[in-house]
Amino acid sequence: MKSKILVSACLMGFRVRYDGSDKPAVLDALEQLRQENRLVICCPEQAAGLPTPRLPAEICGGEGEDVLSGNAVILENHGKDVTREYLKGARLALQVAQQTGCRYALLADGSPTCGSQKIYCGDFSGHQINGSGIAATLLRRHGIEVFSEQQIPQLVARVVAYDTTSTP
Ligand code: SF4
Repeated sequence: MKSKILVSACLMGFRVRYDGSDKPAVLDALEQLRQENRLVICCPEQAAGLPTPRLPAEICGGEGEDVLSGNAVILENHGKDVTREYLKGARLALQVAQQTGCRYALLADGSPTCGSQKIYCGDFSGHQINGSGIAATLLRRHGIEVFSEQQIPQLVARVVAYDTTSTP
């Protein structure tokens, strides 16, 4: 079976970001994979029932790993703790990935959920730090390779390499 890729919905042109926008689309770069029916589109925050638009939220006190281990929280910019809701989204993303056989994920960077290389630092200053969001971290914990939208060539290379080695 061809390997599948979980993809952040906002990267596919769906306007599901906290402010009701999408991210610069990566559709052209993924067209071949889309035609091969490999893409599984998911917005973890929407899956968890969070509204769009919604208040911006950041991980405070660490990164995704710290949230998953109970040592950091996710707060909206007005201070409301939304850790539980965001964790629900991450778990649902993992569930979708596992049920559909995703070996890879292509997630929008910078998000407290989907970020895989960068996240915002937690003080809503717009400053980014190295780190991963909770869905990216949870997916990695379960063996799914996560790429950001800056890493599409690497993702495509991994998919092709895996297909080559796994084809009898
Ligand atoms: Fe949804 Fe992830 Fe995009 Fe945020 S970054 S809007 S959680 S798909």
